[in-house]
Amino acid sequence: MKRRSLLASAAGGLVWAATAGARGVSAAQRLASRIGVVGGGIVGSSIAWRLARRGADVTVFEREGPAAGATGNSFAWINANFSKRPRSYFELNWLGLLGWRRMEAEVGPGLEVTWGGSLEYREAPDRAGLLREQLARSQRWGYPIHPVDADEFARLEPGVTPRKPVLGAAWASAEGSIEPRSATRAIWAAAEAEGARFVTAEVTGLDLGYGTLRGVETTAGRHELDVLVLAAGVQAPGLAEQAGVEVPLVESPGILAHSVPTDPALGRILLAPEIHAKQTAEGKVVAGVGFAGAGSTDASMAVGREILETTASVLPAARGLEVEEVTLGYRVLPKDGHPIVGFDRGAPGIYFASMHSGVTMAPAMGMLAAMEILDDAEVAPLEDYRLSRFR
Ligand SMILES: Cc1cc2nc3c(=O)[nH]c(=O)nc-3n(C[C@H](O)[C@H](O)[C@H](O)COP(=O)(O)OP(=O)(O)OC[C@H]3O[C@@H](n4cnc5c(N)ncnc54)[C@H](O)[C@@H]3O)c2cc1C
Repeated sequence: MKRRSLLASAAGGLVWAATAGARGVSAAQRLASRIGVVGGGIVGSSIAWRLARRGADVTVFEREGPAAGATGNSFAWINANFSKRPRSYFELNWLGLLGWRRMEAEVGPGLEVTWGGSLEYREAPDRAGLLREQLARSQRWGYPIHPVDADEFARLEPGVTPRKPVLGAAWASAEGSIEPRSATRAIWAAAEAEGARFVTAEVTGLDLGYGTLRGVETTAGRHELDVLVLAAGVQAPGLAEQAGVEVPLVESPGILAHSVPTDPALGRILLAPEIHAKQTAEGKVVAGVGFAGAGSTDASMAVGREILETTASVLPAARGLEVEEVTLGYRVLPKDGHPIVGFDRGAPGIYFASMHSGVTMAPAMGMLAAMEILDDAEVAPLEDYRLSRFR
């Protein structure tokens, strides 16, 4: 029988109502469940860590290594900024951002989250008008963001020299970013310390007896499982297809240029009309052009130099900086841009976890997925983001 229970109250007045008993599995059965996670990116690792922390028996299958997919090539800006709409998606991202604070406290300094917020500015009148509307909405939703005048701009980022007069600017003070590879490694280590096992192997097949998951075939042999978390990034659709389920993702490549380390030049995430950029704790300037998908897959050093030159046009300290690396990553982008998360009646035993903005949301996803898997609950924050919405 289903019962409604109130589990907690979170940010923004969001109530974590949960429908428990959703799958009809007893608490004892859940406790003894063998849970597999395909994918050791930020999403799979965070879910594995939270499950292991709650005492579950967890094995992660990763074919390459920590952060080998989208995660390792991510800009890794932690935010619930303007593009995070509708309200429920904003709340998930806000929960994720807050979750990084908690994860920092629980996992420790290895995570290396850089806080300081983001500074966005606009030069075109229509874009500046839109910024005022977006800002007002974010403030109504309780997000810490405020307009910035010329004096505050110069105080926040003295090294930034916009090309044209700034007609609107905003500082979202709570935001931050991670170095995605080292953060993922830190989460792996934390999960291992809680008893999770990491197996370097590719999951090649799902064992589905009478439509219910029994285990997986991997390049390191067969593993019996009761639950499989499918956090395989852009490879998720191929595995889901074996269960007769479509995970609709669209291709979205993104290129970033990473400079060699340099002196401190940028204190926050910079969102300029031409580029987005940040400086890591190590001093590397990381920059990209356009969030919507680069279209191009040319990750040559020449492209990296072009990106850094564009960056230097608004951040003179980047002028002449040597390119250390150019990364090409494929966003895990569901067809409608929003996460696909949870169990699905079409594939019993499989917990889906495919999403863009996965860096931001990973800590929240870990916590919410663990509730759904271990408490046999369906939590309200994920209600709008089920695979079933595509049917
Ligand atoms: C250029 C770019 C910029 C981005 N910027 C941001 C940003 O600023 N902020 C933000 O929040 N998000 C950002 N994102 C999105 C974010 O990086 C992703 O949403 C997130 O990394 C997804 O993590 P994941 O763990 O789901 O997938 P992945 O990191 O792709 O992990 C999947 C893992 O599964 C493994 N795998 C796949 N198939 C198998 C198999 N059969 N067996 C075993 N292992 C398998 C892969 O090797 C991989 O390591 C960006 C992404 C890109 C590409």
